[in-house]
Amino acid sequence: MPSPLPWRDAALPPIAERFCRYAEVWTTSDPTSDAFPSTERQKDLGGLLVEELSALGLDAEMDEHGYVFATLPSPLPPAEADALPVVALVAHVDTSPDAPGENVRPHVHPAYDGGPVTFPGAPDLRLDADGQPALARHVGHDLITSDGTTLLGSDDKAGVAAIVQLAADLVRADAEAAEIGDPPPPRPTLRLLFTPDEEIGKGTDKLDLARLGADVAYTLDGSGTDTLNVETFHAAEAVLRIEGVGVHPGYAKGVMVNAVRIAAAFVEALAGDPAPETTEGREGYLHPHTVEATTEGATVKVLLRDHDAAAMDAKRDRVRQLAAETAGRFPGATVDLTISESYRNMRSYIESVDPRAISVAVEAARAMGVEPALEPIRGGTDGARLSEKGLPCPNVFTGGYDFHSRFEWNTVQNLERTLAYAHALVREWGVQSGTKADGATV
Ligand SMILES: [Zn+2]
Repeated sequence: MPSPLPWRDAALPPIAERFCRYAEVWTTSDPTSDAFPSTERQKDLGGLLVEELSALGLDAEMDEHGYVFATLPSPLPPAEADALPVVALVAHVDTSPDAPGENVRPHVHPAYDGGPVTFPGAPDLRLDADGQPALARHVGHDLITSDGTTLLGSDDKAGVAAIVQLAADLVRADAEAAEIGDPPPPRPTLRLLFTPDEEIGKGTDKLDLARLGADVAYTLDGSGTDTLNVETFHAAEAVLRIEGVGVHPGYAKGVMVNAVRIAAAFVEALAGDPAPETTEGREGYLHPHTVEATTEGATVKVLLRDHDAAAMDAKRDRVRQLAAETAGRFPGATVDLTISESYRNMRSYIESVDPRAISVAVEAARAMGVEPALEPIRGGTDGARLSEKGLPCPNVFTGGYDFHSRFEWNTVQNLERTLAYAHALVREWGVQSGTKADGATV
């Protein structure tokens, strides 16, 4: 494998050049901070984005919390533009505190040959296709990594770069169309949003949704290519409260009912059920995650997760049945079960507000000749929170892999594919909405 090039020495297309510039800006967020944003340095990238978007002629601004907003108006006459939904494109500026993020120096490994990838700043570090199967699918790509001392920050500078490059491309295309007197291709008004503190779970905490003013949104924050995330788990938590009978062990015969044993029996009864450590993809699970127990009393907490509503109901029934069986085995104890809902699969929120958020995203991929993979997320996301708040928000791929680590990588070709998909998505909204507005095929 030839030595990687500092990115400035490589001839890169605009999206990759832009990505590397943003990657160099230190934007690590901090889960121990009470401030918002958690680190002021995130505003360094926010400020740069405001500058660059303003230079394109957009109304870019950063609010006091570090959210950057900008508008790319629809080129259609106002009456037609107003008939279209406003579509927001969202990416987060912060990088994960799980790996160093200061002094990121992107390097390009031209034409990856399938061998081990080395890092100029960390001679012992190896990225290997044996340990990372996705790498084997990128032979011939121009890989981008850090120098091995930091993460790369593709999560989510790749999304940031794709959105800004899309805006730059569309501004230029509008100007070129105007020059030759062509009618502009239909497209909705786009709202661009760059958020802080996503990596510490606070990305939407201070977001003013009215100020965003969007009807549909997409986060560009997914891994790999040609994948969309439109589903999260249905999530609930079961709390089993056990009251035993505690007496002095010396005089316990026939009297003591030990809550520790009851808690242990309940957890043991779950042993054959699907667990986080035995499941993947769309498989749900029951996850006993906390036990607090003394002889007198115990509490067992169990997470219930499933993408499917009916399977989720079955999991609730299963926990109720096990709680009842456990209670039956220990007469004299009081066993009380409560199950509370934590959140619902984002797909249910999206479909209740505007199912086109999904169907248009799928059609956009098909217009590129690709059948997108709809990969369920096994956790919460900013998009899930926005969807729950009434703004349907699927998540779109951005080309990267091995997030939150010094191995993190993307490729020039994957960044270009992400940008191409962003263009296709915007075009597809123009087409679909035209169909709907006219009642005729465009
Ligand atoms: Zn991310």
